[in-house]
Amino acid sequence: MSFKELGLKESILTAIRKKGYEKPSIIQEKAIPQILAGRDLLASSQTGSGKTAGFTLPILQLLSNNQASKKRGIRALILTPTRELAAQVSSNVETYGANLHLKSTVIFGGVNQNPQVRAIRNGVDLLVATPGRLLDLHNQRLLSLANVEILVLDEADRMLDMGFVRDIRKIMSLLPAKRQTLLFSATFSDEIKKLTKEFLRNPVSVEATPENSTVDKINQTAYRVDKKHKSDAIIDLIAGGKWQQVLVFTRTKHAANRLTEKMNKCDVSALAIHGNKTQSARVKALSGLHNKTIRVLVATDIAARGLDIPLLPHVINYELPNVAEDYVHRIGRTGRAGAKGEAISLVSVDEIDYLKNIEKLIGQELPLQVIEGYEPSDKPGDVSKPAAQKKSNFNRRRNNKNRNFKRKPKKNNSK
Ligand code: ADP
Ligand code: MG
Repeated sequence: MSFKELGLKESILTAIRKKGYEKPSIIQEKAIPQILAGRDLLASSQTGSGKTAGFTLPILQLLSNNQASKKRGIRALILTPTRELAAQVSSNVETYGANLHLKSTVIFGGVNQNPQVRAIRNGVDLLVATPGRLLDLHNQRLLSLANVEILVLDEADRMLDMGFVRDIRKIMSLLPAKRQTLLFSATFSDEIKKLTKEFLRNPVSVEATPENSTVDKINQTAYRVDKKHKSDAIIDLIAGGKWQQVLVFTRTKHAANRLTEKMNKCDVSALAIHGNKTQSARVKALSGLHNKTIRVLVATDIAARGLDIPLLPHVINYELPNVAEDYVHRIGRTGRAGAKGEAISLVSVDEIDYLKNIEKLIGQELPLQVIEGYEPSDKPGDVSKPAAQKKSNFNRRRNNKNRNFKRKPKKNNSK
């Protein structure tokens, strides 16, 4: 499938070629024709899968096709959670719309509003905005949303995480009821579904989870480790393997902070990114990993969303995610051109259920192995009643897959 076959016109195709894209990503392939057809749309795919162009390209085309409309004013509104994302989206709009006669601008908080107000006064067809500044200027009657034809909620999951739901509701109430609404998100949670029900009309839903072939290109290993030994084990793995660029995932920001502290004490330079850090702190941490000024980035799933993380040689799940899809998103960050990436999971006894769900999702078994010196002592039987089934499955896997225990301890008294 080519961009041309998706129905985009020549002036936009030229801009895409100049940008260097050869073919649409999966989510672009699925979303663009629906948006061009005027449908409301819910699109979810992992970070870095090209969602921005997925909505920007067709919106630019729709706006430029109906340029005759006499009314000037904001015809398309794109909401994003942070000013960095707003700026990113806006620069995409400018790139893809370079050959069109449309005007766009971007507004966000934390800076003087006057230049933004001036730009809006000069007339814009497309506005990229963070919710706070948008409402602020609207309250001052410095902009009108009465002519909006298309609304995009970009990184909707992050907007919810950041507590923007009330602002979003307020903004919705200021928009014409007759409009096209597009919601883009990295995840497909219940909250997202609720938002969709509330604000989208008869929407088409498109999804693009990384193909299994992506997962196939990744060496996945799962180790059974006692919870209390996980931090020592991970530091040993990283130091022992002399790994330089490692992305580590935890479930909570507490765990991220604690692990980062411990790593730094052990001379493995690490930074944590989580929901309490600003986007610019996250971007800075990411570039530290990129430039090799730090060795490890410890992230929560929420923090990793909305970041354009380059492919890294090693991804470690310090804690398994309780949502299986997140596992696929996490390990999708590893892999190198031509080479296999490595994804490692440290699994404590209470996480074996999570592992089973992950195995089901990826259609692949991840036999549990043991790291020498970190033989688990908490038996599956230690967990309370409901885990009885866990035990039997665990043992079955252990017996069947014994040959996969690469790093089996040679002797047990080695501690
Ligand atoms: P998302 O919003 O899904 O996280 P982005 O829209 O930020 O992803 O895109 C991630 C990266 O992929 C950007 O650097 C973008 O320029 C690039 N990209 C987008 N579409 C394509 C494509 N069709 N071919 C190659 N690269 C693309
Ligand atoms: Mg995005």
